[in-house]
Amino acid sequence: MMMKLLFIFCGLVFNSFFAMADELNQEDLLFAGASKEKITPTIETFSDINENGKYDLKEPFTDLNNNGSWDPVWLGGNQNGRFALGAHDDLWAKSLIVESSQTSLILISLDLIGFLFDEVDSIQTAISEKWGIPAEQIFIASTHNHSGPDTIGLWGESGSGKNSEYLSFVKAQVLKSVKTAMQNKKKAKIVWGKTEYSNPIHDARPPEVINDLLLSFRLEDEQGATIATIVNYSMHAEVLNEKNRLITADYPGTLTEKLEKHFGGVALFFAGDIGGMQTPKIFFHTFFISKKIGENLAKEVILSLKQGKSVPIETLHVKQETLMIPIENPKFLEAMEKGIFGSTKNLLKESDGQLFIPAEIGFIQIGPAQFVTVPGELFPELGHVLRNEMKLEYKFLFGLCNNEIGYIVPEEDWNPNGYEETMSLGPKTSALILSTLLQLIKN
Ligand SMILES: [Zn+2]
Repeated sequence: MMMKLLFIFCGLVFNSFFAMADELNQEDLLFAGASKEKITPTIETFSDINENGKYDLKEPFTDLNNNGSWDPVWLGGNQNGRFALGAHDDLWAKSLIVESSQTSLILISLDLIGFLFDEVDSIQTAISEKWGIPAEQIFIASTHNHSGPDTIGLWGESGSGKNSEYLSFVKAQVLKSVKTAMQNKKKAKIVWGKTEYSNPIHDARPPEVINDLLLSFRLEDEQGATIATIVNYSMHAEVLNEKNRLITADYPGTLTEKLEKHFGGVALFFAGDIGGMQTPKIFFHTFFISKKIGENLAKEVILSLKQGKSVPIETLHVKQETLMIPIENPKFLEAMEKGIFGSTKNLLKESDGQLFIPAEIGFIQIGPAQFVTVPGELFPELGHVLRNEMKLEYKFLFGLCNNEIGYIVPEEDWNPNGYEETMSLGPKTSALILSTLLQLIKN
């Protein structure tokens, strides 16, 4: 699937939908289906007989997969060598398919820290082969959950904390949820929600720039039953911090659970421009606070969707482009050489001694909403530039989508000693992504 066509463009002709709004019956135009599957890892516990907080050989353990060895689940995010002691709540893979007579779109949300391109590519290929939907119309994003398994490979005790068995399980569960979503497809209409809600966000990196948009949309069937609710918000899923040892989906877990209880259907969360450095504004990193933040966000979403507009959908456009981004950060090159990022290494291209990594960016238009997707943690400064060019009413931005290349730092704000820069491909990344996305928006 590396030979993806550039500027794949599908959809109906866009023609003055405001003028046509009254005549069109949107229920004839869209079909949608959604489903979810658990991706909570199994956790093997052990008796810490010498109470040193680590597993030592010969300490008894529960060998759930009967392979004769203790298999830790290393938690992704924060410090290295943090293994899970249990699960507080479940992690999910959630899928939504939206179809018009001309094209289709699959949105997948994973309660994970990040999902690299090789894994994305493998799932896109499997979906394309099974259901004939082009890879360019499939978007797989992570909520950037800091209390789930290390799916990137940076947080093991020494080296990678990635587990290939777990990644195969995630793939199988995603495909299962896509299959059910396909089978559940119904005629659908969309209600759009928009509000501004900055309360829980703290920008930890000056200058203070945040994106306080809390955007949502709800797809309902002909009887008014909810198929899915989609939420887009720009804050790190790290209410639980480095002290936490239990698997949780953090605040997006509570948020989506509340929406599912209220509306029915499946609720999917997509992180926005969370880079530079959008983090929860809290003193206590507890499950109680995580739940409160999730509940408050759910209330805001429910309110905005109740006041939300349902306008006829005349357009479903999906475009995706694969960019080759130079890996300028020697730390990333070194990690790649050590195999920390798995088979992503095989997808690199070389030109004039410079290595390039593939990353997909996307542009979607559904009726009155535009969406851009970026493969990492975009600074809100750059998000604002994109939103300024997006001319429709609802301006969605999905981060950590189809890859996680780390922070996407504005070139003019580049500080070689900054934390975000150490977790970034390099200073050239942002201009490349921005200029290509601006082109996609304009065309
Ligand atoms: Zn982050």
